[in-house]
Amino acid sequence: MKKDLEKKYNPFESEDLIYKKWEESGFFNPDNLDLPKDAKTYTIALPPPNITAKLHLGHASTIAIEDLIIRFKRMNGYRALWIPGTDHAAIATQNVVEKKLLSERSLTRHDLGREKFLEEVWVFLNETQNTILHQIKKTGASLDWSRLAFTLDEKRQKAVRLMFKEMYDEGIIYQGERLVNWCPRCSSTLADDEIEYKEQDSKIYTFKYDKDFPISISTTRPETKLGDTAIAVNPKDDRYKKYIGKNLSANFCGQLLNIKVIEDYNVDMNFGTGALGVTPAHSEVDWQMAQKNNLEIKKVINEEAIILNGFGDYSGLNVLEARKKIIQNLKKDNLLEKEEDLKNNLSICYRCGSVIEPLPSKQWFVSVDKKLDRLGNKSLKEKALEASKENSIEFIPNRFTKRYEDWIENLHDWCISRQIWFGHQIPVWYKNNDIVVGEEPKESGWLQDPDTLDTWFSSGMWSFSTLGWPDNYIDKQKQGDLKSFHPTQLLETGYEIITLWVSRMIMMSYFALGEIPFEKVYLHGMILDKNGKKMSKSKGNGIDPIETIEKFGADATRLSLLMGFTPGNDSRFSEEKIESKRNFINKLWNISRFILSNIKKTDIDKKSFQLNSLADRWIINSFEKTKESVTNKLESFDFSLAAEELTEFTWNKFADWYLEISKIEGNKDKILLYILKNLLIMWHPFIPFVTEKIWSSFNDSLLMVERWPDKKELNDSERSLVDSDFNLIKQIIVSIRNLRTKNKIEFSKKIDLLIIAHEKEEVINKNIELIRSLKTNIKELSVVKDGVVPENSIIDIVMGVEIVLIVEIDLEKELARVKKEIENLNKLVDNQKKKLSNDDFIRKAPEKIVELEKEKLNNYLSEIEKLNNSLN
Ligand SMILES: [Zn+2]
Repeated sequence: MKKDLEKKYNPFESEDLIYKKWEESGFFNPDNLDLPKDAKTYTIALPPPNITAKLHLGHASTIAIEDLIIRFKRMNGYRALWIPGTDHAAIATQNVVEKKLLSERSLTRHDLGREKFLEEVWVFLNETQNTILHQIKKTGASLDWSRLAFTLDEKRQKAVRLMFKEMYDEGIIYQGERLVNWCPRCSSTLADDEIEYKEQDSKIYTFKYDKDFPISISTTRPETKLGDTAIAVNPKDDRYKKYIGKNLSANFCGQLLNIKVIEDYNVDMNFGTGALGVTPAHSEVDWQMAQKNNLEIKKVINEEAIILNGFGDYSGLNVLEARKKIIQNLKKDNLLEKEEDLKNNLSICYRCGSVIEPLPSKQWFVSVDKKLDRLGNKSLKEKALEASKENSIEFIPNRFTKRYEDWIENLHDWCISRQIWFGHQIPVWYKNNDIVVGEEPKESGWLQDPDTLDTWFSSGMWSFSTLGWPDNYIDKQKQGDLKSFHPTQLLETGYEIITLWVSRMIMMSYFALGEIPFEKVYLHGMILDKNGKKMSKSKGNGIDPIETIEKFGADATRLSLLMGFTPGNDSRFSEEKIESKRNFINKLWNISRFILSNIKKTDIDKKSFQLNSLADRWIINSFEKTKESVTNKLESFDFSLAAEELTEFTWNKFADWYLEISKIEGNKDKILLYILKNLLIMWHPFIPFVTEKIWSSFNDSLLMVERWPDKKELNDSERSLVDSDFNLIKQIIVSIRNLRTKNKIEFSKKIDLLIIAHEKEEVINKNIELIRSLKTNIKELSVVKDGVVPENSIIDIVMGVEIVLIVEIDLEKELARVKKEIENLNKLVDNQKKKLSNDDFIRKAPEKIVELEKEKLNNYLSEIEKLNNSLN
């Protein structure tokens, strides 16, 4: 079959149709691939995007990279599985729906009540789910949609409940009073890394609790001092030594405080008064001190950031009102010694920007330090460290191993309960003093814990919950998908969630299955704007991938997200970049169109070909070399370099040189087809749509399941001989073109040329047609072995061969030009001599490099000699 390609590639007409064809083929599902039974698997689970978001550049980059890898593996005969899914993103989603309710109907979630509110959330989610899945398809992602998962669907709910129960039964899920990061706006705890910091102007106050109290303290939050139960001093501090261990009482603004003086080497003697009022209920550092010294924990502030009952006039005030009132009272009683300005970092909620209150609260935790039989008497933390220390999991780039290990080493128990309504409700039921964990009891009267689970609890199970755990895990034996595809081969994600997500996936997989969730973690960097600035909505410098797909096509968008990016590093991105990739795609289209419209139909299925000319041997050599190098680079995740090499081959060697040569030498259908077919195969993982479209014009099969070309063994010495010979012909042609430009000879004017070839006579004579015809426009061309340069001529020297342009020339001008050239060469010679007389260089540089530098010097010298001869 053969269909002509349209004159111009139109991605907008083709992409949806091609995607449909891929989906209908069933090949996104590895079960439908025609593979031998023992074919290896290659599995990636897509990091599930938040269901509330539309596709942004971070997602698009993830998809471009993962689709490239999965298509490459599929074409290499792997049982390649890429699992799609979305994340319910508990807090984020609840926030969006709350905002929507408030702005559209002036309702809060409390007005609706839990059940009605959750109905609203689900209505909203069904819409956004469709949007984001549609957008993912637009990028060309070859995800197996038959295995689509959602972190809050029925199967995942079952998995989460069982995981919770197993962890509870093992004693690593426990309930405890802990100081948590509390957002009063979201009414929820936040993980340590869900907190952001904002610098602010604040004041630090220095005062005594009452006039008889012997020690002054400093604080930025006087209202919390109602909860002080100790004062900490440095044991080396002579001022306070005598008080250590004493119990003192104070009347602080009308409230009785019982204060124990404790010692702590961490107290800075030079900061403030050198004495620290300890508020265990409202500061993480103080909480730790309270644990160590067995201090009373006195809660002052409640979950709405209001002062609790039992604090006299202060009760019922919000923290800022209480602060003001306490300062007034201190001033009135003459207790305020100092009030200074201070810049400090305020902890704020990463979702809503509200000020975080550290509060003691009853929460569910996962212990990371408890040793478990099922983990070989190791803790989750120890197993997670083992994974990287023993290289079971490899981080790309490697420097992130350290970041991961630092994080794990400093890990505290993980608070998994959240006081919001949307999410996995904690699977714990209470009746009087009884408690049931896992599944709801049949009989009535049981009340479920109102809290929900941290969203990372369910996404932490993503590698195995998507493969059918727990149904596929019977008597501790993996079955079905879980057996075939777990551990997965690769997790590809942004480096910023190595702590939030990657580490938790590793711990949960060890707990559930006793094995790692993935073998490699590839971390991509952030995408910056063209000036190197972070993209943000407020700055208006963001790029919407859906818009660029609609403007330039999915392939151009993908290619610009793959080239110029290296793992772990932030990279710049701009519309100009996408435009240039679109231009390349058009070039590939034109190359293909030229070849396919000129070949004989009968040649399409023929595989063998003969190499008749130097150019044939050169292009095939170059192609085989490119193929090997690109394959190696893709295997080692160097996507950008692989694409650059392919571009260089396609555009420069193949299109600019060989296609032009084919027009002169003729009879090259089979070679052109061989290279075109393989180029389409190798470009396919990068730009799947346009390559599939071109492929379909002369093949009945689908390109997406075409087999990646094998590496070919090539004779190295023969290869380099061919390369150097063809290089000479290329350089002669370039030299002739340059001579024309330099001497302002119009292209329409034919020139006479003499080549003094020396030992290259034979190869030049064999390729004389190329020299004569490749945009050189020559009338008389003679090649001699040796000879004298005639008068009135312009000369250039290429690899020892003299190119002599015979023209009527201005002798003086030409003399000046040659002299200038000799002068330049002399400068190069000087530099080269300097380099070679530098002992340091000679000592440190590898022998090969030194040899190369010497050779350069000799080349310069011999060119000078030749130019001098021609001067004479
Ligand atoms: Zn918040």
